[in-house]
This record gives sequence, structure tokens and C-alpha cells, in this order.
Amino acid sequence: MEQMISAAEWQVMRVIWACPGRTSSQIITALQEGVDWQATTIKTLLGRLRKKAYLEMKKEGSQYRYYPLVEEREHVQIQLQNLLDTMCSTKNGELVGQLLEMGQFSRSDLQVLATQIANQLPNAPHSLQCSCLAGQCTCHIMRGKSSI
Ligand SMILES: [Zn+2]
Repeated sequence: MEQMISAAEWQVMRVIWACPGRTSSQIITALQEGVDWQATTIKTLLGRLRKKAYLEMKKEGSQYRYYPLVEEREHVQIQLQNLLDTMCSTKNGELVGQLLEMGQFSRSDLQVLATQIANQLPNAPHSLQCSCLAGQCTCHIMRGKSSI
């Protein structure tokens, strides 16, 4: 299981994912275009990300360059899996619905999503049974009541 990274560490990783092999001064310049973090803060974040094995530092010539050890897609997948694991599975549809309402999507994004849904629909179960603890969701209360 990967270690969680903070929102600030995530912003640093985005710079490295976009352009692996940047030096710390290039990373600092890229970030300071949008945030007012001190160089020392960014260096601290780079150090934490190394400790968490999200990136590695390689000495090339006289410079140290940063490379990702975790891919962006992998990181996003871990975040999404954590979210799904902490929610009642009967709310998965609601979650995707909320994402659709909150996010912005191009016409082609929506076409891809519509195709994905159409492909999954024939094999989807009619209802879901969650694996929450009894006190964590209302599914169990409803089930409990119906069995009395
Ligand atoms: Zn549940």
C-alpha cells in the first residue's frame, strides 16, 4: 500500500510527472508561477516525497534531477481506491453522479463514459450488497428491520 501524500506534495509531483528529470530550481520556478511557497518549503516537500518513495533524486553531472517512482495514473488510482474503500458500495453510483455534476467534460469525454456504461450495463447486478460495518451505513439497519 502506497503512503498517502498531502495536497501540497501532490502539486510538486505534478511538476515532476509533467517533466521528469527537472532540477530542484526548475521545480521551484515552475511552482512559484502559481503558488507563493518559499524555495525551502518546496525543498522540504521534495525531501518528504523521497522518503515516501514517490520520487528519486539522481546526480547527473553537477546537478541533481528528480524522477517519479510512482506514475500519475497509479497515484490517482490509489486515491480513488481509498475513496471507494471508505464508502458504502451502494453509494458508488451517487459518487460518479456527483463527479459528473462537479466536473467539466468535453463531448468526447462524455461519449467515452456513455460507451463504458453501456458496455457494463448488461453484466451489472440488480442490486449491491455492501461490506460496511453494521454501524457505518444504513443498509444494515434496513436489512435488519426487514428480517424482524
Ligand atoms: Zn454499506
